[in-house]
Amino acid sequence: MPYLPFFTEEHDKLRETVRRFVETEIKPFVDEWEENGEFPRMILRRMGELGFLGLRYPVEMGGQGGDYFSAIVLSEELARCGAGGFPMAIAVQTEMATPPILKFGTKWQQDEFLIPSILGEKLACIGITEPDHGSDVAGIETRAVRDGADWIIRGNKMYITNGTRADFITLVARTSNDTGYKGISLFLVELNRSGITVSRKLNKVGMRSSDTAELIFDEVRVPAQNLLGQEGHGFYHIMWELQGERMVAAAGAIGTAQYAYELARDYAQKRHQFGRPIANFQVISHLLVEMATEIEACRQMTYSVAYRFGKGEVPSKEISMVKLATAQLAYWVADRALQIFGGNGYMEEYPIERIWRDTRLNRIGAGTDEVMKEIIWKEMIGRN
Ligand SMILES: Cc1cc2nc3c(=O)[nH]c(=O)nc-3n(C[C@H](O)[C@H](O)[C@H](O)COP(=O)(O)OP(=O)(O)OC[C@H]3O[C@@H](n4cnc5c(N)ncnc54)[C@H](O)[C@@H]3O)c2cc1C
Repeated sequence: MPYLPFFTEEHDKLRETVRRFVETEIKPFVDEWEENGEFPRMILRRMGELGFLGLRYPVEMGGQGGDYFSAIVLSEELARCGAGGFPMAIAVQTEMATPPILKFGTKWQQDEFLIPSILGEKLACIGITEPDHGSDVAGIETRAVRDGADWIIRGNKMYITNGTRADFITLVARTSNDTGYKGISLFLVELNRSGITVSRKLNKVGMRSSDTAELIFDEVRVPAQNLLGQEGHGFYHIMWELQGERMVAAAGAIGTAQYAYELARDYAQKRHQFGRPIANFQVISHLLVEMATEIEACRQMTYSVAYRFGKGEVPSKEISMVKLATAQLAYWVADRALQIFGGNGYMEEYPIERIWRDTRLNRIGAGTDEVMKEIIWKEMIGRN
């Protein structure tokens, strides 16, 4: 029965298909990907073949022409693979690096970068963060300077998901001497261009099935046709992109919280102490009730904001609220689930420890909890 009024029977069918795909083609292999620090490229191609990388992209771009809730379904269901890294890498591909190409890209850019990404032939990444500028996007220092028909790019990008082996990057760079949000532009840069190096593959607490890189751009020559959107308007373009990034992070957080809750609920009914299932202790059953209630509250809030976003509105205060609430929800649900698993929860042979490690990132990536609060506060007092 579809979750009305947001989902239809079509969405339910999609959910079943993705859930089966996760069970048979991701879950059996995800431990190995975590071990290797990355997922294999063939799974990207497989997802392209299945249409999962372009669910809400137009048919003429190789997509499925679905609505925004098809992207929500994908995000929620991928979270059930039990690892955060792989779904995050896919979200970078489908909901972070490529939406600006659909919205602001030229026909050449869509043919060259967007369509191959939807088909799973190209792996994308997005470069906003720098070693000295994370939350303060307007402070970025990577520079692109015009040289005849080309741009020359110089700078460093930090924590780039998919960055060790992506085919291209949606890059944020400064194109004028203006400071702050003025004079920032976006570029699509092929990562095999001369002058680009992966200076480090970073080791992380969690999210290990996705690779994270520091990238150096040293006098990288890029043709003018690679400028994405309007010169000098990159800050607004990337702020728009970040809204979608936060929405999809919220959907993934709901999926992860739901999965962690189900694992804890089932474990609590099977695990016996003092001669009875631990779920029979009210402190445990009520904890599960609280987890389910908080998940449901956040789910409904996420869906209603996603509905507005899918219709073209950009309610940034509510998107920030949803991002903040679901990031905290996922982490707290994972933490309580680990508690219910007891010592087993702390062991690698049980699934909770990884979820617990991975959900910690939700409160940092795509804008930290504190930054979400700043945005919400500024909007509350009308300072935007
Ligand atoms: C695993 C991983 C993957 C990532 N993938 C990508 C990617 O693909 N592409 C990309 O561009 N970035 C990526 N990031 C970067 C991520 O978006 C940033 O880490 C995040 O935006 C925070 O920036 P920062 O780490 O520089 O922290 P900082 O901005 O240095 O913040 C440090 C602390 O100060 C607080 N703080 C900062 N400013 C304020 C303020 N105004 N008010 C109150 N508190 C404040 C923060 O909340 C935080 O607690 C990734 C990060 C990680 C860890």
